[in-house]
Amino acid sequence: MSRTALRICPLCEATCGLTLTVDDGRVTGARGDRGDVFSKGFICPKGAAFGAVDSDPDRLRTPLVRVDGELREATWEEAFDAVAAGIRPVVERHGPHAVGIVLGNPNVHTMAGGLYPPVLIAGLGTRSLFTASTVDQMPKHVSSGLLFGDANAIAVPDLDRTDHLLLIGANPLESNGSLCTAPDFPGRLKALKARGGTLTVIDPRRTRTARLADRHIAIRPGTDALLLAAMAYTLFDEGLVDLGERAPHIQGLEELAAALDDFTPEAAAGACDVDAAGIRALARELAAAPTAAVYGRIGSCTVPHGTLASWLVDVLNVLTGNLDRPGGALFPQAATDRTPRPAGPGSGFALGRWHSRVRRHPEAKGELPLSALAEEIDTATDEGEPVRALIAVAANPVLSAPDGDRLDKALGSLDFMVSVDPYLNETSRHAHVVLPPPPPAQSPHHDFAFNTLAVRNQVRYTRPALPLEAGRMAETEILARLVLAVTGMHGADPAAVDATVIDRTLGRATRDPHSPVHGRDPQDLASLLTGDNGPERRLDMMLRLGPYGDGFGADPDGLTLDRLLAHPHGIDLGPLRPRLPQPLKTRSGKVELLPEPIAADLPRLRAALDERPGGLVLVGRRHLRSNNSWMHNVPALTGGSNRCTLHMHPEDAEALGVRDGEPVRIKGAGGEVTAPAEVTDGVRRGVVSLPHGWGHDRPGTRMRHAAAEPGANVNQLLDGSLLDPLSGNAVLNGVPVDVAPLTAPVTEKHEALT
Ligand code: SF4
Repeated sequence: MSRTALRICPLCEATCGLTLTVDDGRVTGARGDRGDVFSKGFICPKGAAFGAVDSDPDRLRTPLVRVDGELREATWEEAFDAVAAGIRPVVERHGPHAVGIVLGNPNVHTMAGGLYPPVLIAGLGTRSLFTASTVDQMPKHVSSGLLFGDANAIAVPDLDRTDHLLLIGANPLESNGSLCTAPDFPGRLKALKARGGTLTVIDPRRTRTARLADRHIAIRPGTDALLLAAMAYTLFDEGLVDLGERAPHIQGLEELAAALDDFTPEAAAGACDVDAAGIRALARELAAAPTAAVYGRIGSCTVPHGTLASWLVDVLNVLTGNLDRPGGALFPQAATDRTPRPAGPGSGFALGRWHSRVRRHPEAKGELPLSALAEEIDTATDEGEPVRALIAVAANPVLSAPDGDRLDKALGSLDFMVSVDPYLNETSRHAHVVLPPPPPAQSPHHDFAFNTLAVRNQVRYTRPALPLEAGRMAETEILARLVLAVTGMHGADPAAVDATVIDRTLGRATRDPHSPVHGRDPQDLASLLTGDNGPERRLDMMLRLGPYGDGFGADPDGLTLDRLLAHPHGIDLGPLRPRLPQPLKTRSGKVELLPEPIAADLPRLRAALDERPGGLVLVGRRHLRSNNSWMHNVPALTGGSNRCTLHMHPEDAEALGVRDGEPVRIKGAGGEVTAPAEVTDGVRRGVVSLPHGWGHDRPGTRMRHAAAEPGANVNQLLDGSLLDPLSGNAVLNGVPVDVAPLTAPVTEKHEALT
């Protein structure tokens, strides 16, 4: 029998509402949910393939446990027994930091990934935490932490109202947006142009987004911070700085002007390969627009000055009066945000509270660089214990981190490893235990993270579209049991994890004089929670304590889970609104324009003014039907234009004797890979582009389609030594490489290009 069910799409950051068609217990179709308050019916090819993603026959159905060196199917009880027996001796003998945790990007796309990893990290007490953030977005967290005192206070462009949008290192026509949640991002850009607005794109590639722009600047990769600094300089130099109504909340303007003194457009032009007049024009247009927003994404984050570039994005928004105003860049307010505290000084943001053991990388936001994971496992020092056991949740760092070959060997040397993963992939094949979560249609969904980045405030929740298959365990229960197994409480009721979180949260809230439940009895409040299970009760609690919540009766019209369930297409909470100074948690209580770690890093940027790298440099590439390495096992999402080819400019190709479609060898500091050349003038001269997430050619995986079309692992070209020092983010863009036809030797330097 056929029926429909609503499900928020978890396949990218846009969080579109889907209407699934379910036939005989399987998802057989997906279309955009026209009633969805946020996405209003939008869907992309990935969302349309939801059924194929959900029913991939290579998804694991039962846990796997390693016996005599081989992974064998096991019961859930056997699997968690093995986890407890594998992790606890490491903790007891070597301490909690000897157990590493790796959280992959899909964690932020599941409800379980939002609720349980914080409990896992705190319960274990390890400082060996590595996540996808340090190959992707940590610079933005660090710059927000330093500017605003809160690493999660990220201002997003007000796409639907702005008059002028400047995108740097972002390609939302392929990615559908990142660190900016906006279903139908392409449609919103077209609407900007239709209402007379201006779109400027800065990118070394002429991407689909660049082709839509009024102006495209093909910058030299890795020089984003120089260009943005020169724009900020121009604003000061030409008297265009206007902080607008937010001026009372901003400090450090004079110090900033002095710090940028050397970054004239004329000085930056050579390094960026953008003429000085063009840089000045960018600044003038930004200042002249009635409203404007600068938005930087992965191309500007994954570079040697990623934190400085991320900082300068917000600096430009501040200097033009566009931070925290409609049409500019605003701070979203999610329904599950904590109870807003009164404005005033906070505790600030600290970097480097501890360091990695081998190369002394500072922690950022409690995390160590994913690039350092292999050395933290395989290198002995006098600075404490190496990582001897690993918990990987939805993580495939063998493909997503630099130098997968070294990490591959390091993972093989661990005393114990557990992976929570639906696939036996390049990373989970090393695990001693694999715990497979159910397919997405069998899981509930709420976007804890992406609603804090959404261009419109709204809240949505979808219960599982399908019941759990026999033998499956809910992902929330898997993670709750994992918490218990690794913290010495193996065998306890998993509901105890949710109950403990609820007790602690309500206890804190009732002691907080600014909370709507101040002074009330936590037990009474807990008894008021609704929901079918622990995760739903936690969601109800967060909604009720949040900024739109009912405060457990204090505001009878406020949000509760019951009210949300009565609105299956979600509840619109209105456009983004100015919020300063409330989100600020700096010690001054103001936006601190020139934080000390930023000022200390500026000499490094100054030195880059004189750099003119020769030869070829590598940049990444995103495709609409792909998201990292997750979906390469789904035939509907691979092939066609979604291929792992090396984009190369025709003149570079000719100089190196490379012909379109023929295989080339690409050599970087970390190794060499082979890929077909795709000769195109869509990249500027001196730049080659290879997409990431490929390289499914290692033995021992169970992803048949991906293994048949493996592609090349771009991260194998990196050796993990290049990092943005403030954030620990891997440098993935602007990396020197050498390229030659497969039949010719790859030399260190190609004279034709130097
Ligand atoms: S844009 Fe993203 S969230 Fe929307 S349907 Fe596509 S993959 Fe899903």
